[in-house]
Amino acid sequence: MSDCLFCKIIAGDIPSAKVFEDETVYAFRDINPMAPVHVLVVPKCHIASANEVTGENASVVADIFKAIPKIAAAEGLTNGYRVITNCGEDGCQSVKHLHFHLLGGKKLPDQMG
Ligand code: 5GP
Ligand code: ZN
Repeated sequence: MSDCLFCKIIAGDIPSAKVFEDETVYAFRDINPMAPVHVLVVPKCHIASANEVTGENASVVADIFKAIPKIAAAEGLTNGYRVITNCGEDGCQSVKHLHFHLLGGKKLPDQMG
């Protein structure tokens, strides 16, 4: 998608601090970190949100969850971490390309704000 921010980041048209990449998955540091480690893990193919995951494209979600433990280990998250995906208006999704926030590096709050 030519007008999608994360598609532009994946293509290298917009710079990012890459932490992981394989055939189907790209991961980079969030520009506005909410924790000592805040990585965005995204499919290279454009999927607008969790609501657009289908039987045809769901394998990339498995790829993402295979990448997450590798990224967590590389980031030193030995004591755990949190994975979040925001979806749609009520979920406060601001970028319309499916992404998983990987957060850690400290004890995270146990309540939603
Ligand atoms: P959402 O609110 O859609 O779940 O998360 C979007 C995330 O993308 C936010 O945490 C925001 O800080 C991050 N973000 C927005 N624009 C950029 C950017 O240009 N580069 C990077 N690395 N992160 C971005
Ligand atoms: Zn996209």
